[in-house]
Amino acid sequence: MTTTRFAPSPTGALHIGGARTAIFSWLLARNQGGAFRLRIEDTDRERSLPEHTAAILEALAWLGLDWDDETVYQRQREARHLAAVQQLLDQGKAYWCECTPEEVDAMRETARAAGKKPKYDGRCRCKGLGPGPGRVVRFLLEDGPRVVVEDMVKGHVAVEREELDDMILLRSDGAPVYNLAVVVDDHEMGVTHVLRGEDHLPNTPKQMLLYQALGWETPRFGHVPLIHGADGKKLSKRHGARAVLEYRDEGVLPEALVNYLVRLGWACGDQEIFSREELIKSFTTDNLSSSPARFDPEKLLWLSGHYIKEAPAERLAALLPAYVEAQGLPVPGPEDLAAIIHLFKPRARTLVEMAQAAAFLLVDDDALTYDAAALGKLLSPPPRALFEGLLARLEQADAFTAEALEGLLKEYVAEAGVKFKELGPPLRVALTGGTNSPDLSHTMAALGKARCLARIRRVLK
Ligand code: GLU
Repeated sequence: MTTTRFAPSPTGALHIGGARTAIFSWLLARNQGGAFRLRIEDTDRERSLPEHTAAILEALAWLGLDWDDETVYQRQREARHLAAVQQLLDQGKAYWCECTPEEVDAMRETARAAGKKPKYDGRCRCKGLGPGPGRVVRFLLEDGPRVVVEDMVKGHVAVEREELDDMILLRSDGAPVYNLAVVVDDHEMGVTHVLRGEDHLPNTPKQMLLYQALGWETPRFGHVPLIHGADGKKLSKRHGARAVLEYRDEGVLPEALVNYLVRLGWACGDQEIFSREELIKSFTTDNLSSSPARFDPEKLLWLSGHYIKEAPAERLAALLPAYVEAQGLPVPGPEDLAAIIHLFKPRARTLVEMAQAAAFLLVDDDALTYDAAALGKLLSPPPRALFEGLLARLEQADAFTAEALEGLLKEYVAEAGVKFKELGPPLRVALTGGTNSPDLSHTMAALGKARCLARIRRVLK
């Protein structure tokens, strides 16, 4: 059975690079009807924090990446890591080393001066040392052929053994190293396919040697190129990249972020929009690109807008109040909520944009503030006679639907003998405080009769 995994270190939030490899691993497992497993690599005692773990789990759940079996915590598996070190020692494939870090540095310096690869020279291999203070366990790298990674993304990657040295397996403080822990855990979790960031490629030959030495089957590896900013540099906040949960807080729907991240480095023809089912069905590692993808925040917003347009109104109604509240606006009742969603679903790119655009609908008539430039240009003074005539009309109106209002406004300007632009723009400012809002008749219908009347009267005072 295909088993993939995601193995984040809880030293910070889940960022989009990690989320993308998690999505790829999840898709590979789901496409194959296999298992996707989660391992929290919390062995860095100082930097691993429970709140980071909680946030990572929350981000994965928000993205809809469900994992199989229990979450594995690497720190709890230390006994298994130590057992593997012991196995290698017992088999003569590892040895105790008493060299101090300073001595190893000096060896590296000597090698460098001789124009050779700086590395540990293996001098403790034959000393027959046992454990002792300050000692480490090293892997005994035997002579042999180049180590070859048939990478699912990068293709054939070969590393000469001369490039490697007798790596440390157990540090002098008794802690097993990362490369050993990963191998033991991946093996015991039954992982068959490892998809991870390209930054881990240098670790892979070392891990493959450990699999061989331990007599375990090596999984297949795939190293996904990192995401770059639009300028080709390493992705950072500067490029508009955020942690996954920050996108949630900005009101991007999770399916939009998943769709965006999958397309960043994976393609299936020129299709841009994929449902989750389509992704599961069409995902293969063959279509993963081996060159870095460039992050484009505008495209993400475009996809986000698409998914908001497609989302059922009830779903948005359940999500939106929290975003309205976060803007410091009064939470709308069901009727206003429905009106807001109807009005802004076709145009908002995020739920935050929707909440902000709806602000004029949510504030009290007396608390509506006016954009200074619009106020100066369009309402100083207001077209008094036109507004008064309109008030009279609106007071009489019994149907306050967008359709009826459109007819009413058209008729009114025709009768008054003015062009629509003499009424429309100032009316929009009076009703919404600004010059930017959806179609006037829809805006008026969403506000309702009482608020429209109150707001027009207010600017006439
Ligand atoms: N814990 C590692 C990281 O967060 C990932 C290790 C792996 O995928 O093998 O970078």
